[in-house]
Amino acid sequence: MRTEALSEESWIPHGIIDREKRMSEKEREFEVQLSEEEWRERLDEETYRITRQCGTEPPFSGKYYDHKEDGIYTCAACGAELFDSQTKYESGSGWPSFYDALEAERVATKIDRSAGMVRTEILCARCGAHLGHVFTDGPRPTGKRYCVNSAALNFKAR
Ligand SMILES: [Zn+2]
Repeated sequence: MRTEALSEESWIPHGIIDREKRMSEKEREFEVQLSEEEWRERLDEETYRITRQCGTEPPFSGKYYDHKEDGIYTCAACGAELFDSQTKYESGSGWPSFYDALEAERVATKIDRSAGMVRTEILCARCGAHLGHVFTDGPRPTGKRYCVNSAALNFKAR
């Protein structure tokens, strides 16, 4: 018997899940930390508006919604690799859409209650840049739709 080695949390699996959920949803410390001033200098106006002020570009207006080259989409703010073109698909929404992130931990999520809706915001896990939202009406195998603003992305051809 090693019951003395078990912490309270290891007895209550749902407690651990709740805790992880809270951690993923709360404001977290990002590896890349710049002041608003520094971001403003570093990014062009549109990218700053989208990534630092949770902006949205009009549908069918961005440079990547109809982009079909083979490669990796990176964060426009910090350069982190976020999405693979192999998971990009035609969602009809007018925004670049992916059914998965390059790796789950590269994209952070946060509940967004703005605009009278409850949506799941997606952010670059490295610098906290607002990317867009993730929805659950995507195709197989994940059923997810990562709906991303073109202005939050750059592209590296393979
Ligand atoms: Zn980033």
